[in-house]
This record gives sequence, structure tokens and C-alpha cells, in this order.
Amino acid sequence: MNVGNASRHRLENGGAVALQAMREIWNYRYEVNKSSFKPAEKTVYILDSLKHEGEIEILRRVYGKAVIILSLFTPEGKRIENLAKRISQAQGVFLEDSKLRDSIYYKQAKLLSARDENEKVFRRTKRFWNQVLEWGIEEDYDTIKKLTDVKHVFSDKYGQNVRDAFPLADVFIDSTDLTNADSQISRMVNLLFGHQFITPTVSEHCMAIADTTRYRSLQPGRQVGAAIARANGHVIATGTNEVPQAGGGQYWPSPNSSFSEDHRDHKLAEDLSRKQIDGAIIEVVARLSDANLLSSDFKPLADAYHGGSHIKETSEEIMGLFKTIVDALEGTRISSLIEFFRSTHAEMAALIASGESGLSCVGTTLYCTTFPCHECTRHIIHAGIKEVYYIEPYAKSLALQLHPDSVCMECFHPPCQKVHFRPFTGIGPRMYAKLFRAARRKDDHSGEIVRWRTGRPHLVGQVDSESIIRSEAREISVLGDLFTEQATLESFEGLKEAKPLPANGGGRT
Ligand SMILES: [Zn+2]
Ligand SMILES: [Zn+2]
Repeated sequence: MNVGNASRHRLENGGAVALQAMREIWNYRYEVNKSSFKPAEKTVYILDSLKHEGEIEILRRVYGKAVIILSLFTPEGKRIENLAKRISQAQGVFLEDSKLRDSIYYKQAKLLSARDENEKVFRRTKRFWNQVLEWGIEEDYDTIKKLTDVKHVFSDKYGQNVRDAFPLADVFIDSTDLTNADSQISRMVNLLFGHQFITPTVSEHCMAIADTTRYRSLQPGRQVGAAIARANGHVIATGTNEVPQAGGGQYWPSPNSSFSEDHRDHKLAEDLSRKQIDGAIIEVVARLSDANLLSSDFKPLADAYHGGSHIKETSEEIMGLFKTIVDALEGTRISSLIEFFRSTHAEMAALIASGESGLSCVGTTLYCTTFPCHECTRHIIHAGIKEVYYIEPYAKSLALQLHPDSVCMECFHPPCQKVHFRPFTGIGPRMYAKLFRAARRKDDHSGEIVRWRTGRPHLVGQVDSESIIRSEAREISVLGDLFTEQATLESFEGLKEAKPLPANGGGRT
């Protein structure tokens, strides 16, 4: 973890570790071909594992269709248990499960797991530093301190961030049960090699519909899609996050809109939601200042509030004071309130759409591209949705904290009576059309069914090796002086042969 962080910081590049893996690939080709410019035949490179969205970005940029990103999901409890076992066994300690839970190894595993998920958020908390000290993980503490001087603690965009990287995958595998994970991966490989008799599962089909629905949203934040379906895969309603319009539904672009002119957020003169959040913050500051609980420096801000001025119409001094406060509150609940937004969320839009069609949601499953927020969660519970599948996590959601009586995320076999929120597994929306668009299934002349030929597999989609290698060379040139972009391009034009690259220390994937 630390070496990975150091690499990203040193190169100021979220994809730094992937770049080093790419250099290994470059050198491997030299080993087998005596030239890094010739692709290695029948070769798959497995990079285990990706920890930052920058790595995915760079891999996709270079390898395009030739890269498949897999996200493997294990429930948090199980993940920590496995890690604790590995840590203890590496030190020659073998504990029963019940004793493992109370051990220092379990605590260390918990800490590592939280760090793995999102270092930026995690390191911001005093709790993190206190735990490191309390549990006596001194070595870790020193290393982290060296790697992250104070300014990085608060703005660490190069720390590990599996939470943001995870949803960017092409395929999502449930790795709770390894035999089952194996068969999911075999199915994926068969699809990649054009197996024309594998079709989508109910989950894959419904999530692809939820995903398609989201692209009609014009929200300045993220585009979210939802689909509500019965167990047989019959989708009864879809929804996206967009501003509602009088007469029912949400705005479409005018003049095609069924009812009125377009009044979506981008048409407004000001950001009404942000104005409300700023107002809430100033209100609190003014009250604290009135009660003499703040330094007198903030009095001008309180006076402006009492005078009824809008913050944008005040002086530079007041704007500066306000900015100090906003910066100090970054990441807190008050600065990320969701209640002031004008859009109907995707999940609620889908619930309302099913009501409009007169269809009950009791016992149905909701597929959503993002983990539902707590506002949507209470409506989901209320409507009788039985199960929720999501792809992207949503850090601001308090679904589980506010509804522990109704929402369950951990139990799988057999499930309890609560509404289950589960991460989506299967072929993700990114690859859906590519993998499920059927190849030829019938011979045009004889009318006979065409068998899938395991002996002569064909990779779905064309890959241009030369342009991949060219772009690979360009990207890894940032790793060292011995391998400049100029030298690379010269070898392309002239020698057509490149030397292996010095390994130069650094981390491994
Ligand atoms: Zn919501
Ligand atoms: Zn449960």
C-alpha cells in the first residue's frame, strides 16, 4: 500500500502503479520476442490488483477494448476475517475464528480494509490516527507519516481508493464462494470469445436498462438510473434523476416536452440548491456569533446575514470569511445536505412511474446504478421493494444508519425479512451490448444451428496491436530518462526494436 502511494505521489499520477505494470509487460514481450514491439501471441496479462481509478483510466486509454476490468466482491465481514487470518498466519499464529475476532490481527485487518476503501476520507478522521497508536501498529504509523506530510492528509488524491475504482469495472464477480466465482469467470471468458448461446441473467438485463435510463438526465452532478422489475425480469418502471415538471413526470428537452418549457437546473440563473446550503451554513455562523461563541472576526458575516444580504452581493472580506468556513466544513453533513436539490432521484422517479401505471412494487427488485440515498431508502422500504442491487457506492447515504430495522446488507443464505441491499454482480452495463449482441447462430444455407467452436476461439472486437504498443510506449516514457518518448518514436520509425527497461525500484502489481 505504502509503495503504491509513494509511486503515485512521486509521479503525481493516479495511474503510476499501472504504468509500472505496463513496463513489466513491455519487458516481458522483449524476453519472449526479442522485441517489445511485437505482441506476445496467445498471452493474457493479469494485473492484481487495481487500487485507484487513475489506473483504470490509463489502462483503458492505452489498451482500449483489449483490457477487461474485473471487480471481485466479498462482504466486508468476510473480507476482514480473511485478511486477519492472513496477517496472523504470516506471523505463525493460528487462531480459531472466535479468538481471531478478538485479536490484534482482526483490528489490523479492519484498519487496512478501511484504508483500502478510501484513504482520503479515512485519513481525515482523528479516529484513524488514534487507532493506529492505540493498536500499537507503530511501524505503519511511521511509514504513513513519512509518506503523507500534513498537506497530503487533507488533499490526498493519490491515496488508495478502491471505493471509486470498484464501480468502474466491466464485470462484477461475487467471490464469496470460490467455486461459484470460477464459473462466473468461465462464463465471462466464453462470452469474450464469442459464445453465441449465453444470454443475460435477469440482473444483467435489468441493470443494463437502469444504466441506459440514466443518460437522459441533465443533472450537473452524476447521472443515475433505476429500474424496478419482477422476479421474472419484467421491468415495470424506470427512472432517472431529473427535475420534475408540472403535469407529471420530469422535463424533457423542449419543444418536445409533453407539457412545458425546459426549466432544468442548467437553465436557472443561479444554483438554488447551493444557495440553500450556503444559507444554512451562514445561519449557524450568525447564531454562534450572536451567542459570542465565535471570535469577533466573524461578526461581519453575521451582520451581513442579519442585514438580509445574499453572500454573493457582499464584500470581498465577507466572501473570504465565508470561504474559510466552507473550507473548514468540507466533507461534513451540513455542507453536503441532499434535501435542497430540485431533482427527483432515479429510485423515487421509478417508484412514482410504477404508481402512475397502477402497478404495485410489493415484492419487486430495484436495480440502481448508485447506492440509494437515505431519502430514497425510506420510500423503497415503504413501497415494499424486496431487494436492491446497486453498482456505485454512495458515501453520503445513511440508509443503514437510519433504517437498521428495515435494511440488511450482510446476510445472504437464507435471507432475513428485511430489504436487502446488494452489490450487483455479473456482466456490467459497459460490456452488455458488446458481449450479448449475438454472433451468427444459424447457418444461412443449411439452416442448421452453428456450434460454438472451442478449438478456434475468436476474441470479440478488433484490437490494433501496433497502435496499442505505440501508446503504451508513450505512457511509460514518464517512468524514466532512459526511456523518453523521443527514443520510443525513433525506435518505431528506425530500429523497430526496443531494449528492456530498467526496473528502477518501485512497486509491483
Ligand atoms: Zn435518492
Ligand atoms: Zn438480511
